[in-house]
Amino acid sequence: MKNHIVFIIMDSCRYDTFTAAKTPNIDRIGEVEKRYSYASWTAPAHYAFTMGMLPHSSPTQVFASEVYKEEFVLWTDRTGSSDISFKDFLPELSLPTVLKKLGYFTVARVSMPVLNKFTLISQHFDDYKLMDNHNNFAGMVDEISFPNDQPHYYFLNLGETHYPYMLMGENLPRISGVHGVFKSLGKNKDKNAGKTETFFDLEQMKMFHKQQVTCVEYIDTLIGDLMEKAPENTYFIVTSDHGELFGEDGFFGHGPIMHEKCFEVPFLEGLLRKKKMNE
Ligand SMILES: [Zn+2]
Repeated sequence: MKNHIVFIIMDSCRYDTFTAAKTPNIDRIGEVEKRYSYASWTAPAHYAFTMGMLPHSSPTQVFASEVYKEEFVLWTDRTGSSDISFKDFLPELSLPTVLKKLGYFTVARVSMPVLNKFTLISQHFDDYKLMDNHNNFAGMVDEISFPNDQPHYYFLNLGETHYPYMLMGENLPRISGVHGVFKSLGKNKDKNAGKTETFFDLEQMKMFHKQQVTCVEYIDTLIGDLMEKAPENTYFIVTSDHGELFGEDGFFGHGPIMHEKCFEVPFLEGLLRKKKMNE
């Protein structure tokens, strides 16, 4: 049977957050690479993912069109199939559509309201859901199964690493409006809604960055649980949709920001290596 695929996007996790975290489970997938997102915020970055385009390595001396074609062919190894070419992505340019033609059941679980099921991003999935809470990767892991009779594609957008970097039950200081604009859109009549009066100081920024590291370590333990459930023919991809600024050059967060830290993301992929009994 073709490989199951688990594609995990740790929202807003920038590269050096990932490398500062202890991630014994994710490390079993392969060596982490520094890659670059095609976009500086959630929606367009996920749109590129649904086309089958992963964060790039910024290669020189090549034409972009050649890089794109090679990117699409890499799904041959990921699926364990012998018959994927660039042509299979035409005309829809949709990874879920290609995978469905190969017999996959395609599932998406997302945490960010900007990716809700009424958006274009959901269109080609068999089963698409915005989670009730933005930090419920544990709930996703609980409901995931790997049937023997049909390969499954899981596309998972995780909110734990997104501002305010909160794990279930935690209560960090939160300044309203900074990132909640899509959640409250249309409900709030105050024309100043979404505007923030104060900006974080550097001490808060440092604390936020540290907290994002903690969130990655928490996610790693849950990925360990998911690996326990997954059969050996499960292909994992772990990355982020964009980076995050923690005060560098006066920026916080991501979005309308032109800064390399907003584009640097961790990237790992590979077939699951099961733990041996004596490890
Ligand atoms: Zn994002």
